Amino acid sequence: MGKCPNCNSDLIKKIEGLTLTISCTNCDWGLATTYWDPIYTDETIYKVILEKGNLSSIENIRAIAKVVNCNFLQAKKIIESENPIIVEDNAPEIIIQVRKLNNSNLKYSIKPNFPYTDKINNGEEIIKKI
Ligand SMILES: [Zn+2]
Repeated sequence: MGKCPNCNSDLIKKIEGLTLTISCTNCDWGLATTYWDPIYTDETIYKVILEKGNLSSIENIRAIAKVVNCNFLQAKKIIESENPIIVEDNAPEIIIQVRKLNNSNLKYSIKPNFPYTDKINNGEEIIKKI
């Protein structure tokens, strides 16, 4: 990242939906652009599949309910079925859902192979193709 053209302080990059914003950590300088990352031009539909052996615990069921956007009983059915597909969508949406899953203990896999990482470093959010 470069420095602020206004005051030479550090800049911070944030991605929200399709918008990339760069703002200064010190003054109110900033800009927003439509994010150009290849993730947004990837037309592949990825599937997030729950692995076998996920405990049907309250935490896990709640995590599923959040991702699938369903009620507790529906989520319980999902977790107790064999290799359920819980998300089927394009890459940016998969990233959003995977963030929720990563806050839980749920084991899952993504098919086809998901070529992006999602890291948060020092308040800087990076979505990068690997
Ligand atoms: Zn500045």
